[in-house]
Amino acid sequence: MDSPSSSSQLSIRNVTKTFPGKKGIFNQLSGKTSRDFTAIQDISIDIEPNTFVSIIGPSGCGKSTLLSMIAGLSPISRGEILLNGVPITKPGPDRGMVFQNYALMPWMTVEENLRFAVETVKPNLAAKAMNRIIKEHIQLVGLTGAERRHPHQLSGGMRQRVGIARALAIDPQILLMDEPFGALDALTRGFLQDEIERIWEQQRKTVIMITHSIEEALLLSDRIVMMTRGPAARVDEILEVPFPRPRNRETIEQHPAYHDLKAEMESHLFRETRAVEADRLM
Ligand code: ADP
Ligand code: MG
Repeated sequence: MDSPSSSSQLSIRNVTKTFPGKKGIFNQLSGKTSRDFTAIQDISIDIEPNTFVSIIGPSGCGKSTLLSMIAGLSPISRGEILLNGVPITKPGPDRGMVFQNYALMPWMTVEENLRFAVETVKPNLAAKAMNRIIKEHIQLVGLTGAERRHPHQLSGGMRQRVGIARALAIDPQILLMDEPFGALDALTRGFLQDEIERIWEQQRKTVIMITHSIEEALLLSDRIVMMTRGPAARVDEILEVPFPRPRNRETIEQHPAYHDLKAEMESHLFRETRAVEADRLM
């Protein structure tokens, strides 16, 4: 086993995920076809505190599977994931999750959605402190004035702001985001990416974000994990993103490393996605 670096906050160590009963794959070493479906195989990633990590890879390679194991929502088949040296076995308030489809309580207002999340994690919090946390986080994501609205009265971009405020309000050590802007139009997506960059500058929480967007990953990340296609997806390469912060779209594009990094990611994604299509034709 790889030894984790001592400064790791999150250590993903030789993690494999198999699902029973799906189309098996032929294992060249054993010469047998297993009945289990191996989604990801032997993935190791060490994440230091206060880093923004993006995960990118072809559709269906196992990105959500990996994130849900980090969230403690899905059991790990082999290997382990350590948070501050302690194996993850279940969800906990140390990890906040932002979903692509927002996952807000539709019958609750913006304020009530936040209150519900914070109360679940900190049931004994005094009312004054609770109200302050709610107010601060609504303000942080630019939703002051919309406290009493219900999710159906909000645009997609505003709903995702609530999702982000809710995840941050529980003050997690790590923020997990699964294609958080995937359902939004390009303009709204751009606004929210800028917001995330601004919020990240303020809070510097560890973030693990799944994305399909090369530009988004380059704007926000310190490191970009590029996964191979599945089945048995692996980490192909981890890119270091050297752009100074605070960042914005214009300044990073001027950086000498920008175009090489972008080209490398494009060729990786093209290659893996084309291979997925070739696999389907076989
Ligand atoms: P991604 O998020 O990268 O698009 P997923 O993590 O959703 O990919 O899925 C990875 C692979 O695992 C896919 O082949 C998918 O069909 C399979 N998979 C995901 N969840 C399950 C499940 N609960 N049961 C069986 N197979 C699953
Ligand atoms: Mg996914």
